[in-house]
Amino acid sequence: MSILTEILQHNEQFVENKEYVPYQTTKFPEKKMVIVTCMDTRLTELLPAAMNIKNGDVKIIKTAGAVISHPFGSILRSILVAIYELKAQEVCVIGHHDCGMAGLNADAFIEKMKDRSIPEETLSALKYSGIDLNQWLKGFSRVEDAVANSVEMVKNHPLLPEGILVHGLVIDPKTGKLDVVTQAEAE
Ligand SMILES: [Zn+2]
Repeated sequence: MSILTEILQHNEQFVENKEYVPYQTTKFPEKKMVIVTCMDTRLTELLPAAMNIKNGDVKIIKTAGAVISHPFGSILRSILVAIYELKAQEVCVIGHHDCGMAGLNADAFIEKMKDRSIPEETLSALKYSGIDLNQWLKGFSRVEDAVANSVEMVKNHPLLPEGILVHGLVIDPKTGKLDVVTQAEAE
């Protein structure tokens, strides 16, 4: 039985018993904030609890390491949608200690792909078409630096409207403690 099969069984009961009622809200964030954070499973419930975020409060975008690596990738597009379409006014990039993206080794990662039968020809074909896998799969060494880089990427984006506050934080995945890397102040 796959995990999904179990989930679908649960889901049928969930809907039937109207367990969704406490979660009902609108698509507009109550707190007018968009958060970019890591997909780490320890943060699934801890981060919202530690920040007093309830269903309907904020937009949460999750990506490995909370790293925003491309100014015109889907993360920045999501941030802009949250701002322009959903009225978010503050952006928080939240990395965390003990992140899997810290020290991610691209060479070792590529070795794992080969072990899983990705042919060498595929890797070289990507290389010759200009895709630098080593760069793409590279982790970071200091989470604070990674957060600061992502904050800069958002702050300097040519399509970011004026008056949007962009903050950078690091969360402890055990205690939920937030440390501020960079905090923007309203003028
Ligand atoms: Zn992480």
